[in-house]
Amino acid sequence: MPSHQPTAGMMAVDPAYLSEQPSSLSKPAPEEPVRNPKYDPKKPHITETPMTRKNWYKHVNWLNVVLIIGVPISGCVAAFWTPLTIKTLIFSIAYYYATGLGITAGYHRLWAHTSYQATTPLKIFLAAVGGGAVEGSIRWWARDHRAHHRYTDTDKDPYSVRKGLLYSHLGWMIMKQNPKRIGRTDISDLNDDWVVQWQHKNYLKTVIFMGLIFPMLVAGLGWGDWMGGLIYGGILRIFFVQQATFCVNSLAHWLGDQPFDDRNSPRDHIITALVTLGEGYHNFHHEFPSDYRNAIEWHQYDPTKWSIWLWKQLGLAYDLKQFRSNEIEKGRVQQLQKKLDQKRAKLDWGVPLEQLPVMEWDDYVDQSKNGRALIAVAGVVHDVSDFINDHPGGKAMIRSGLGKDATAMFNGGVYFHSNAAHNLLSTMRVGVIRGGMEVEIWKRGGAGEEGAQLYKDANGNRLVRAGAQVTKVIQPPASAGAA
Ligand SMILES: [Zn+2]
Ligand SMILES: [Zn+2]
Repeated sequence: MPSHQPTAGMMAVDPAYLSEQPSSLSKPAPEEPVRNPKYDPKKPHITETPMTRKNWYKHVNWLNVVLIIGVPISGCVAAFWTPLTIKTLIFSIAYYYATGLGITAGYHRLWAHTSYQATTPLKIFLAAVGGGAVEGSIRWWARDHRAHHRYTDTDKDPYSVRKGLLYSHLGWMIMKQNPKRIGRTDISDLNDDWVVQWQHKNYLKTVIFMGLIFPMLVAGLGWGDWMGGLIYGGILRIFFVQQATFCVNSLAHWLGDQPFDDRNSPRDHIITALVTLGEGYHNFHHEFPSDYRNAIEWHQYDPTKWSIWLWKQLGLAYDLKQFRSNEIEKGRVQQLQKKLDQKRAKLDWGVPLEQLPVMEWDDYVDQSKNGRALIAVAGVVHDVSDFINDHPGGKAMIRSGLGKDATAMFNGGVYFHSNAAHNLLSTMRVGVIRGGMEVEIWKRGGAGEEGAQLYKDANGNRLVRAGAQVTKVIQPPASAGAA
């Protein structure tokens, strides 16, 4: 490969993009990236042929296997012969955070989502330390991440958790991906950013220097621990940063709550936040992706947000984007409402009025006389046979209403029945009286007229608020007799 060609695919990249040339991409059609000349879209990609015992190794991205699994194992082995000094340990942890921030504050929140603007010195810093995390170039990473947001959980999502937790964590890098499958996204802004393009073109050099040589230099020149700098500050630190940031694709789509929207997989959890420098409020993040925050409460752990805020105070970052809390609360309320609807749907609220048979008043009176314990309240007929013995007000009281219009009796004429009583009564309803007055109100409500007391949830189920049952009549008409 000629040296001027970019090496975005140091790791975790599908071969079709290995030789994309940013120089020729200054004005690309965003939907048609320039591809590797060796890549022939007419030939079936290896991922389109089923995996067999003979060809399985062709499905594996061996470069990534070496980088994600092989190198860390060699680091673990080397660590047996390399003593860990306290200075190297402190430096390795500090460098772990710096390179992690390169991914979370740089690759993710700055470049993939443009949730704030950075001055050139800050961009160079983030591109450098982000390169030290060894997770591909900014350009490649941000393009896949935009596809992940645009096509979350679908087949075009490069790391869909629907294919399994392990797949979303690193399987998607270890197995070859069909370049035709990944959803396309517009990255024209990244093609116009010279820091992004420089890093993409010089990716291999960036990775080797920032990933391995720089930590070796610091520990070597600083306190003479060259090997410690390479093994702990370099190789093992890369391993930890990679595994931590991979959790944004796996754990953040698997563990936790969904306070804003539960239709897709992203979730909020403190453990994910702790592991990923604050990227764990992922349900919020997928709803408000261009917000520079992931955690919106002051007590939640989001050091990436704190860093961006600090850079703003130092004049290094500006235009921090934030959604209004009004918009955020709307999402939260809608999700709460959805949960409430689900709870309510599990309860017995009685047969919906529109499904009840319509009875003539005389028919109602006749049936009551012939032994059926029917009682009409607000135009709705209830069969209370099984309830007479349990009536808290006694059998005589309830019997006195049988075959009559008990609207006034039930609503204070005899006793002001409780909210619970109205709810219980509704479970016993068996019919509606033709022309019954509340039925008329209900019909108007159904037609969507103003002043209607009746509301429906997303599934079309009628909401019955406390005190708003159809049998609840504030001022029963004095002459509520036979209609
Ligand atoms: Zn996600
Ligand atoms: Zn994102």
